[in-house]
Amino acid sequence: MKVVICGGGVIGASIAYYLSQRNFDAVVVERTGVANAASGKSGGFLALDWCDGSVLAPLARRSFALHGSLAASMDQDWGYRRVETLGVVASARRDVAGYRNLPSPGWLGGKAAVCGRIGTPQTTAQINPAAFTNAMMAAAIDNGAALVAGCVDGIVLSPGSGRAAGAIVDGAVLASDAVVIALGPWSMLACRWLPLPATEGVKGHSLVFAYRPSPESLFVELESVDGARTSPEINPRPDGTTYVCGLPGHDALPADPADVAPEPGASALLRQMTALVSPELAAAEVLAEQSCYRPVTADGLPLIGPVPGVAGAYVATGHNVWGMLNAPATGEAMAELITGGAATTVDLGPFDPARLAPFKASEVEI
Ligand SMILES: Cc1cc2nc3c(=O)[nH]c(=O)nc-3n(C[C@H](O)[C@H](O)[C@H](O)COP(=O)(O)OP(=O)(O)OC[C@H]3O[C@@H](n4cnc5c(N)ncnc54)[C@H](O)[C@@H]3O)c2cc1C
Repeated sequence: MKVVICGGGVIGASIAYYLSQRNFDAVVVERTGVANAASGKSGGFLALDWCDGSVLAPLARRSFALHGSLAASMDQDWGYRRVETLGVVASARRDVAGYRNLPSPGWLGGKAAVCGRIGTPQTTAQINPAAFTNAMMAAAIDNGAALVAGCVDGIVLSPGSGRAAGAIVDGAVLASDAVVIALGPWSMLACRWLPLPATEGVKGHSLVFAYRPSPESLFVELESVDGARTSPEINPRPDGTTYVCGLPGHDALPADPADVAPEPGASALLRQMTALVSPELAAAEVLAEQSCYRPVTADGLPLIGPVPGVAGAYVATGHNVWGMLNAPATGEAMAELITGGAATTVDLGPFDPARLAPFKASEVEI
């Protein structure tokens, strides 16, 4: 059985990995480059129990465990490590000393205070997202999967049965027995081809500094000099870099992932925000100024399952702020669904694409 997976982000690569583990023929079609989008530019922060209390909890807990076992069992190093995670407040307008409940790591400045420990090495971890996504794709290829460079511009439906029979890639038919839409925010394009709910792209900016502090991840509540409140996240990485995100963008999603770019002034503003937390970090060399779009559905939950009414068509997208965390369990469950008819490791019921109305093909604007 041949499965074409549209999109080489962390979700597509994870599905290919788990299909290849079951000796199924997986072909990933990627337009711009594996991990070029959010899956290469996100925080890579993982949490065991931060989704508890929502229907995401079993998926997140399974995935947190899979991240640990993948890191232990595979040769590649993608910077996986368990970390402590701190809640921090920082302000340009007021003294935050009253919020200090724990001593600050030495690299934080005087305008920041640690108000609490919000994760421990038992419950929180980090990965380098680009390295992880590429490692999953490489492992899938080692196991027999294929990566095709090309732009998916349609889905082939069998004239008789209406069953999905392949993807149209750069105008040519790539035949298969099943097709998976894993295009992240570009899954919106697939609403032109299949009865799928909308997946919007929500933009965020990030910076990567050449700076090696102590390893804690920081979740910051920050007040700027003009009173604006933002919530930057800071993830030091074992490769001697530190990643900072938390500044939203406003541009609409471009059709071509290669056209995603930071907005004017965004990198300078994010650097100013960083300086309120750690002047030392903000003064370090900037290795990357970047932006990306996280995929978001109408109810904030992912779409993971069969496309309603189209046999052989599946979707796995809309992972919002937890796509890096939830990719392994999504890939595993999708492989079970496609090869065996049902997921056994997690209940995909809450993520059934049929829960939301399909988006009108004529209203897709990208
Ligand atoms: C700033 C930021 C920080 C984040 N931090 C975290 C975090 O700390 N932890 C966490 O768990 N999650 C985090 N996330 C969320 C996470 O990054 C995403 O949920 C996840 O990367 C989505 O993966 P994906 O594979 O669905 O989509 P993408 O990574 O967007 O991949 C989709 C792929 O499809 C390709 N494509 C598009 N159109 C076509 C086409 N027509 N044909 C072929 N290929 C095409 C693209 O090139 C792209 O490679 C963050 C997101 C953002 C924006």
